[in-house]
Amino acid sequence: MRFHISTLGCKVNQHESDVLTAALSAHGWQRSEDGDRADVCIVNTCTVTQKASMQSRQLIRKLQRHHPGARIIVTGCYAQVAPEEIEAIEGVHAIVGHSRRDELPDIIVRTVGHTEDAPIRAVDDLAPGLRFFNPATAAPGARTRPFLKIQDGCNSFCTYCIVPYARGRSRSMRPGQVIRHLRHLGQQGYHEAVLTGIHLGAYGLDLQPATDLATLLERIEAEKPLARIRLSSIEPHELSDGIIARVAASAIFCPHFHLPLQSGDDAILKRMHRPYSRDFFRQRVVTIAKRLPQAAIGADVLIGFPGEDDRSFEKTAGLIEELPLSYLHVFPYSRRPGTPAFNYPNQVPPQVAKERTALIRAIGNRKKQAFIEQAVGQKIDVLVENRRDRATGRLKGLSGNYLSILLDGEDSRMNTIAQAIVQDMDDTGRLGGQIIA
Ligand code: SF4
Repeated sequence: MRFHISTLGCKVNQHESDVLTAALSAHGWQRSEDGDRADVCIVNTCTVTQKASMQSRQLIRKLQRHHPGARIIVTGCYAQVAPEEIEAIEGVHAIVGHSRRDELPDIIVRTVGHTEDAPIRAVDDLAPGLRFFNPATAAPGARTRPFLKIQDGCNSFCTYCIVPYARGRSRSMRPGQVIRHLRHLGQQGYHEAVLTGIHLGAYGLDLQPATDLATLLERIEAEKPLARIRLSSIEPHELSDGIIARVAASAIFCPHFHLPLQSGDDAILKRMHRPYSRDFFRQRVVTIAKRLPQAAIGADVLIGFPGEDDRSFEKTAGLIEELPLSYLHVFPYSRRPGTPAFNYPNQVPPQVAKERTALIRAIGNRKKQAFIEQAVGQKIDVLVENRRDRATGRLKGLSGNYLSILLDGEDSRMNTIAQAIVQDMDDTGRLGGQIIA
């Protein structure tokens, strides 16, 4: 049996496709790459915006064209929230929701004898109390820096976001399992893992006995299962002084934080149902910068939320200008049916949102450039990735504070931690240097 997996959406979705690949490979099935024939095509869908849902449908149709006769299995967030829309696409063999993903190998086998017109539908309501799905082993995929999902779901219900409906309530991997998976990755020769979740700051609150992210990080620090650990996005109000201090004093946690700001205007934050103010966000970033002056600090920004007028946009732009941020992820607001904000008045015209998005991206590019530039002349420890840069053929290294650098060296350097000297920055803003140790 040859299977093909196509993935849309976030890091968590990518990680879940890696977990699925590992599970199917354990059944003796073979993954086929793009262009190869496949007996089964799995589409891991996204529904974060209307566009993502449309792309999910397009991908299903594309795979049907490229793999005539293959069984088409659709899973992921779009499958969870809109199974009837997928059912309307002819030639889909099974639709599998989040809580049934571990049954996927069996469901694929069942599609062989399934003769009804309607696809197999394995989608449950995501009721509170759902358990965290803990894979047998961590699934690194083809990455130098594998993801480890330690938390799923969200209880926050921000008014623009479909995720709590698509993934259910927050649930966490037990701390002992986190250590076991990280240790296993270390034994397999990995030097870094990225701890991910849908709402990482809610880690552990659902467990019995309850715990939290700061306590987990302390245990990881004490047990040092891996050389480097990176944290993915943490909500500003959940990034405690304790977590910042832990990273500042750590030998293994990367000095890299990513915080969703979304808006720099308090009234908009309130309408978004985001439980912090611009001052609170400012204070978080300033605290990080004081404790870890070399840290990378990234932020997400959502532009064009209903009610965002020129004044509130200027507040967002002003806050971003003022803060020592290293890079931005900027998204124009997209109306998502099924969320409260879909019906909010004062929707921002798409052209205005587009122009504002471009302005914030320009600020983000300037800040990123300045952050990269200040590294020239410094010595940095980098993890050398297992693939060369396509354009230059040089090795690629990534520092703890998220600087990417092109280096000369043999393939034997790949997947090792090396010390490099940063020598220059080219016109495109890429750093170049040499390995020195
Ligand atoms: S915190 Fe808000 S934006 Fe993030 S997943 Fe939860 S509801 Fe969505």
